[in-house]
Amino acid sequence: MDIIENFETVEVTTDLLILGGGMAACGAAFEAAHWAKLNNLKVTIVDKAVLDRSGAVAMGLSAINLYIGLKDGKNTLKDFVKYVKNDLMGIVRDDLVANIARHVDSSVHLFEKWGLPIWKDENGNYINEGQWQIMINGESYKPIVAEAAKNALKELGKNGSYYERVFITEPILEDDRCVGAAGFSLRENKFYIFRAKTVLAAMGGAAHIFRPRSTGEGLGRTWYPPFNSGASAYFTIKAGAEMTCQEVRFVPVRFKDAYGPVGAWFLLFNSIATNAYGENYMQTRSSELKKWGPYGLTNPTPANLRNYLMMLEVMEGKSPIYMRTEEAIKKIISRAGDEKAAKKKLKELESETWEDFLDMTISQALLWASTNIMPEEKPSEIVACEPYFISSHSGASGAWISGPEDLSPPEYQWGYPHMTTIKGLFAAGDASGASSHKFSSGSFTEGRIAAKAAISFCADYPDMPNINPEKIRELKKEVFKPLETFQIHKNYSNDPDINPNFIKPKMFMFRLQKIMDEYAGGVSSFFRTSKPLLEKGFEFLNFLREDSQKLAAENLHELMRCWENIHRLWQAESHIRTILFREETRWPGYYFRTDFPKIKEEWKCFVNCRWDPETGEWKMMKKEIIDLV
Ligand SMILES: Cc1cc2nc3c(=O)[nH]c(=O)nc-3n(C[C@H](O)[C@H](O)[C@H](O)COP(=O)(O)OP(=O)(O)OC[C@H]3O[C@@H](n4cnc5c(N)ncnc54)[C@H](O)[C@@H]3O)c2cc1C
Repeated sequence: MDIIENFETVEVTTDLLILGGGMAACGAAFEAAHWAKLNNLKVTIVDKAVLDRSGAVAMGLSAINLYIGLKDGKNTLKDFVKYVKNDLMGIVRDDLVANIARHVDSSVHLFEKWGLPIWKDENGNYINEGQWQIMINGESYKPIVAEAAKNALKELGKNGSYYERVFITEPILEDDRCVGAAGFSLRENKFYIFRAKTVLAAMGGAAHIFRPRSTGEGLGRTWYPPFNSGASAYFTIKAGAEMTCQEVRFVPVRFKDAYGPVGAWFLLFNSIATNAYGENYMQTRSSELKKWGPYGLTNPTPANLRNYLMMLEVMEGKSPIYMRTEEAIKKIISRAGDEKAAKKKLKELESETWEDFLDMTISQALLWASTNIMPEEKPSEIVACEPYFISSHSGASGAWISGPEDLSPPEYQWGYPHMTTIKGLFAAGDASGASSHKFSSGSFTEGRIAAKAAISFCADYPDMPNINPEKIRELKKEVFKPLETFQIHKNYSNDPDINPNFIKPKMFMFRLQKIMDEYAGGVSSFFRTSKPLLEKGFEFLNFLREDSQKLAAENLHELMRCWENIHRLWQAESHIRTILFREETRWPGYYFRTDFPKIKEEWKCFVNCRWDPETGEWKMMKKEIIDLV
């Protein structure tokens, strides 16, 4: 039986194709609609999920983590760039960070206009959580932003459309240019070919590459949304784009088991964390920071170094580590005045602390409730999570993109802003690298910047590119192969999950996670790795790659799972290759090279890599850091 005959091929032609439906993609759709209307161009957005609740902001957020406050003179761009650079141990593109930061406030003002409640003080000023973060009532953050994006597309009439529950698998290239994408519907028997003059990749980062702390009954619970699975990295790598910072994973420290946010506790409530014996390790271990100068000696201490001091405590057997919520609350209340005022303050704090979780990590509130935790009485455990790929947060992995003409040195500028090294392929949010700390507002803003540039690309290249029909047939065969593999071999055994002729996606994912965890510095190896470990892991990764040909899917949902894992595999490979190449330890709280345990001046550079679609070979390269501040 030829499975692919059951699938209708749907061809969609558009000028700008936006892949993903998260913060960057919604920003892109909103901005693109404005410029597309002026130029009579088509804009199409494709999300594997539903725009209203897709991506990392799906559950909501309790803070917007990037707001500069330029109009009120709260901060300067220079301060922000310096802060980001220090947090990333010197490895950032100043031009990209500044470009996003100089536009981000206007995006936040739009969110407020669209109905997002932002906390304000008695004078009507935003309430800051930290220097760059402002507090929101953000349970409905994503639906609000998605509604604005959809309304903007509606304004385009027949020129604006969005596809939901369509999973993007592959980039489509013609000559040296990206001219579209292939995907399939998760609900109907449809194979999609999107043909476009220009493509913007914004499919988020990746979780479930490393074995998560929560397995078995807790499987699926991770800090980063499990439904972002490396599609951006895969898409850009497969298109032949140069990638950067593939070694810079993010290891967040969060409340244990439910991964609740710690930002409000550390920044708004000024809580401290201690080891099991009540010692504040940021103080007792402060001399360690000198080894990671100049970054370790700057205030605030980079996130990875804060992690590292905590990891040293754990390795010395001084865990559990606790967020001292009860002490922080006690301190705030003691400043309230008389008993009546103290009671009022306690009530206020109680609602703020629970709302912090209810806004963005409901399961943490449930965990507190089910384990009898009252933050005013008892501290809560925090822990370093498994590594994730999220360049918009405090990681940095993504495509190497061109910077803005007025800010970027020639080495960082080769065309349209936020275009990758592949003609016609743009990237934003978690898809673009070396510009950390964009967060939700910055990702939305970067989507806007990239989309505007992509529309001008369409105006400069007005002819619609062709796609070879033979290529479409090959892609269709490739995409549905796991369904075929299952059908051919399913009767060999009586358990659909156990069969010597194929591997189901869940087992494939477990194998990937085991390799990454044990060899590439995951949780079980205390985030430590070395050349011999990485090389051994790489050997196993190659076996896994061979077995990816035997992935099998029983239905459309499993087909998606198969492709998610292929995407993860490529993200994993570029990660291992890059960690191996960088012979130093630069971010000890994200990963530690035991064979090169120190930071080295000669490695103050970007590590970029490129997979060549012609030869299938990888090339690793160093790229200079050009400081603008
Ligand atoms: C737990 C957590 C807490 C955070 N807290 C804050 C905070 O307090 N404040 C703040 O400002 N920021 C916060 N952030 C950061 C913020 O969420 C991200 O910076 C932002 O969402 C990145 O935008 P993006 O568009 O790149 O990715 P996302 O918003 O994650 O969107 C990715 C999109 O790609 C789609 N997609 C994925 N794969 C495919 C595929 N194969 N085909 C089609 N579509 C696909 C997804 O469905 C989704 O629509 C947090 C992030 C996390 C994970």
